[in-house]
Amino acid sequence: MIEIDEVSKQFQTKKGTVTALQDVTLNIERGQIFGIVGYSGAGKSTLIRLINKLEKPTSGRIIVDGENITTLKPQLLRKRRQNIGMIFQQFNLFKAKTVADNIKYPLKLTKKYSQAELDQRVDELLQFVGLSDKKHDYPAQLSGGQKQRIGIARALATNPEILLCDEATSALDPETTDEILRLLKRINQELNITIVLITHEMEVVKTICDEVAVMEQGRIVEQNKVFDLFTNP
Ligand code: ADP
Ligand code: ADP
Repeated sequence: MIEIDEVSKQFQTKKGTVTALQDVTLNIERGQIFGIVGYSGAGKSTLIRLINKLEKPTSGRIIVDGENITTLKPQLLRKRRQNIGMIFQQFNLFKAKTVADNIKYPLKLTKKYSQAELDQRVDELLQFVGLSDKKHDYPAQLSGGQKQRIGIARALATNPEILLCDEATSALDPETTDEILRLLKRINQELNITIVLITHEMEVVKTICDEVAVMEQGRIVEQNKVFDLFTNP
């Protein structure tokens, strides 16, 4: 589903060249919940931003669904992005928009849906995340866990095959974290969505991931099925 092939990424800064990723090769199979763990600065966000094409690799290739996305034309790229949803540590909801309008936002960008279709899709998504009663609220009226549920509903609006999660539970307390992880598991199993999640918390990986890659200083230092990783002596 996602092949990352010998990818390196360097940033030019005033202080010189920063290597965020060095020769990263990963194969993320369809249907998995794939975890990427590592300390702050290891290169996790850069890797996930490359998958979402928010950044370009300095070298190497990224292949999503059999297609090399590193050479896609901007117009096609916009289309392919609808196939990838993303959720964030700080939820990134639009504060001045209602819950319904937050969820509609990515759908409106596609210019494909009538008002009635938009409303119907919002209702379906709110029902799926269990927040139908919050439709007309603003983000400031919601708890952290509720905000993330809305972030998830927005990320799923375009029916993506892939969901990227950037420290999606790091701002939440343990109980709310468990709720969100259960929701992610449902998304993986009921909607058949491949999930890539980055986290600095091994506990998150243990709870829901099928496979995990460990990053250090821009490199993958270990990759394993989660079962093997925690049962080996
Ligand atoms: P993580 O998500 O694991 O905390 P990042 O991918 O954010 O790691 O960062 C990896 C390295 O790349 C760090 O040294 C960081 O400072 C650097 N880096 C990330 N983004 C940029 C950028 N836009 N400009 C310069 N350096 C960056
Ligand atoms: P407001 O002005 O209503 O407070 P902003 O437009 O400033 O809202 O955006 C709120 C948050 O949404 C910001 O954290 C921003 O990074 C994030 N954001 C902006 N554009 C997008 C997008 N296309 N998809 C997801 N999040 C976005």
